[in-house]
Amino acid sequence: MSTIVTLLPGNAIASTKKKIEGKKIIVIGAGISGLVAANMLQNWGAEVLVLEAKSHPGGRTRTSMRLGAPFEFGAGWIHGPSLDNPIRQLAGWAGSSFFITDDDSIELYTSNGSEIGEDDWDEIEEIWYEVLDELDVDSTGSILQNLNEYDDGIWEDPNIRWIFSAYTEFDYGASLKDISAGLINEESGYPGADVILTDGYQKIIDLLAQNVKIRKSTPVISIKYDFNDHVEIEVENETFSASYAICSVPLGVLKSGSIAFYPNLPSYIKTSISRVGFGTVTKLAIKFNNQFWDSNVQYYGTVTKKTGRWPLWMNYKTFSDEKILMGFCFGDYASTADKMSDQDLLKDALEVLSNVWGEAVANVVDLMRTSWSQDPFSFGAYSYKKVGNSREDFENLSKPLNSRLFFCGEHTNFDFSATTHGALMSGIRAADQIATANLR
Ligand SMILES: Cc1cc2nc3c(=O)[nH]c(=O)nc-3n(C[C@H](O)[C@H](O)[C@H](O)COP(=O)(O)OP(=O)(O)OC[C@H]3O[C@@H](n4cnc5c(N)ncnc54)[C@H](O)[C@@H]3O)c2cc1C
Repeated sequence: MSTIVTLLPGNAIASTKKKIEGKKIIVIGAGISGLVAANMLQNWGAEVLVLEAKSHPGGRTRTSMRLGAPFEFGAGWIHGPSLDNPIRQLAGWAGSSFFITDDDSIELYTSNGSEIGEDDWDEIEEIWYEVLDELDVDSTGSILQNLNEYDDGIWEDPNIRWIFSAYTEFDYGASLKDISAGLINEESGYPGADVILTDGYQKIIDLLAQNVKIRKSTPVISIKYDFNDHVEIEVENETFSASYAICSVPLGVLKSGSIAFYPNLPSYIKTSISRVGFGTVTKLAIKFNNQFWDSNVQYYGTVTKKTGRWPLWMNYKTFSDEKILMGFCFGDYASTADKMSDQDLLKDALEVLSNVWGEAVANVVDLMRTSWSQDPFSFGAYSYKKVGNSREDFENLSKPLNSRLFFCGEHTNFDFSATTHGALMSGIRAADQIATANLR
């Protein structure tokens, strides 16, 4: 796999690495994976055009500073920001500022507003560790099934439901009943405590997008890939011809069938598209007029009757001047929350907060929210290992077709799926695959 250094514009290694000068290449989708591939191929001399459905690049990595601090619509953390992590390297080149979020700084409240004591906290945390530690590559079924086997009836305990939702459903972006207990043990990661980027993930996107030609607001409708020497990509009122194409659209878009492939995708790819999991996570940042919580606590946890209903809140006061709490919904509840109007979503979230802080929560200045499952250019947040999946399913999603059409995106990277670094690596892989195909 190529080194990430080749991404830098005008880099000397890049210009001598592959012979692809003058070849036209279309990249579909301007998320991290597509932009990384576009940069590499362009640096190798190709003529690259990125077609992006939305009015802006970034895809599931996008920041708004409207609230006075970064609201990340998609990726919020660099998971495992060791220097080996390519997204950490890219963030360094972009001049990003890091803040380590302290996972141990958390206060947990029951639905009647009382804080959970240290003993109760230690107990649920121990069970959580124990259940996950017992899982290995040979575990079958879902994590929920394994939890019930560990202790039948334990799922009735609201505190247990809280910890498995706030931590595990969050990690995988899906309901505990759907996440494969065995496959999650085959994933890889980088070491290091998670960091957020205080000036936003957007800086990385801006760096990647600055020298690449992007046609925005241009959704691709169809891809024809069975010619000997070219591909044809159709958008409204126009068809582009190129030597190669990369399709980097999210798995949710592939599942939706909104892009037609000619010929039809092979059945093994279609099967894997339908099998691999793709869930959602809802984020809601609420900016308050008054601060009713402690400045130094990183996270607040709130136990609710419904699993996944606002279990976790991130305190912006720890890294900004803004009086913002960002709440999350996970698992099945996230699918419900995604569909709520802004007003209903806020009401739902404030109801949970008011269990702890009473009427103090009423003074809202502004809000920002996500609804990834309702986004027609994503249809979800990130891929996950669903019960019944195999490594092969993810690998099928990365297989080139006719040496003309290539695929990338977080869902094509089994080891590092659902992350920005996984997306980045998949873009490098797709660029390499094209360079190799071009040498033949
Ligand atoms: C809520 C949320 C939280 C997350 N948190 C983290 C985190 O903390 N850390 C982390 O590492 N990762 C996180 N992720 C995952 C990370 O954001 C993704 O893995 C990564 O951004 C995916 O990049 P990508 O290039 O694969 O896809 P995308 O960024 O989705 O790019 C695909 C692009 O294709 C475009 N497109 C779709 N359809 C078409 C079409 N028909 N024609 C043209 N273009 C099209 C889309 O608009 C999009 O721009 C999170 C994601 C979400 C949604």
